Amino acid sequence: PQAVEVERIRADFPILQRPMNGKRLAFLDSAASAQKPQCVIDAERECYETYYANIHRGVYQLSQRSTQAYEGVRAVVQRFINAPDEREVVFVRGATEAINLVAQSFVRPMLSPGDEILITGMEHHANIVPWQLVCEATGAQLVVAPVLDDGQLDMEGLRARIGPRTRFVSVVHVSNTLGTINPVEAIISLAHEQGVPVLVDGAQSAPHMPVDVQAMGADFYCFSAHKTYGPSGAGVLWGRYEHLKDMPPYQGGGDMIRTVSFEKTTYAEPPQRFEAGTPNIAGVIAMGRGLEYIESVGREAMIAHEQGLLDYAMDRLGHIPGMRFIGTAPHKAGVVSFLLDGVHPHDMGTILDMEGVAVRVGHHCTQPLMERFEVPATVRASFGLYNDRDDVDALVDGLHRVKEFFG
Ligand code: PMP
Repeated sequence: PQAVEVERIRADFPILQRPMNGKRLAFLDSAASAQKPQCVIDAERECYETYYANIHRGVYQLSQRSTQAYEGVRAVVQRFINAPDEREVVFVRGATEAINLVAQSFVRPMLSPGDEILITGMEHHANIVPWQLVCEATGAQLVVAPVLDDGQLDMEGLRARIGPRTRFVSVVHVSNTLGTINPVEAIISLAHEQGVPVLVDGAQSAPHMPVDVQAMGADFYCFSAHKTYGPSGAGVLWGRYEHLKDMPPYQGGGDMIRTVSFEKTTYAEPPQRFEAGTPNIAGVIAMGRGLEYIESVGREAMIAHEQGLLDYAMDRLGHIPGMRFIGTAPHKAGVVSFLLDGVHPHDMGTILDMEGVAVRVGHHCTQPLMERFEVPATVRASFGLYNDRDDVDALVDGLHRVKEFFG
């Protein structure tokens, strides 16, 4: 694959041109949210400046143009995740809303007391709490597959937990805390052998690797635009049409109906059935531009670039005395979680910030995983297209500062 030309990519991101504390910004928090290229910012602004109007139903030109631009993004997403049908692409606010939608509309109606929903020990709170809500409402149980010491999923443990009461499996593709890339194809096969459908939380895979929902075999897949170089407040739920067509609406309102009367309302077909109310029109349009941006860079090139940075970072950080990595699975995306002996993660984050290095410290919305590793928090550096070795060097230099500071 072609190599990623980082200098050219960096030039596309206005925020990276701004110094931080007089230093070059080393932005190492793309797992939380990615920065935005000019083309995404322009797409959103162009919409508001030149053709914005509410979508659907409008007979005037602006509304038709907005509708076309918004609806056109379904085909972009379809190609981006290799979905068989663009009617399977539902626009939502983000991964969180997508998971709640599936939990309430698809899973909850099939649950009886004693039924089980299987997740893993490395889920983001967004893939835990929605399941707890449906369990509380129905008397179903949440079952958790264990995580091994190196941050891999315990596949034997997972297999043993798929049983006759399992009704649904929901699993993260790439852990936002450990970087572990889970073998979702194998997990889906195991579940499907028992007739159990699977949702893959792609919040961290969509931005960093090629995604083929058909090859994967998933029933549902979701991601958030703000991590795929798009705006916040937009995202995608993809689901097999055979599931979507039988699912009841998640929310009621305008735009999701066929006919409304006080006696009986009938619902639109998917995806409209799941898009009640005026959506994030400009945000969805700009999300499409962000996905095209990733495609223009090339996903194979992107992987090679981010894996190169990961290897470089693990090597350089690994030479710092007192370094403890949390998450060293062999298949790992560009996320490094660590601790330094005797230094609190929040102190590290603060000192690194003074050096222009933006990392995240805390539990990364994975509190049960923190408990699993018996740590209160970690420092997390995560990579995107625009990172280079200078960013890793700045992190390493900053950590040496931290060590000097704490003696
Ligand atoms: N799952 C994972 C693995 C994530 O990293 C995140 C975001 N940190 C989410 C779900 C939730 O995404 P959002 O907050 O955009 O809805």
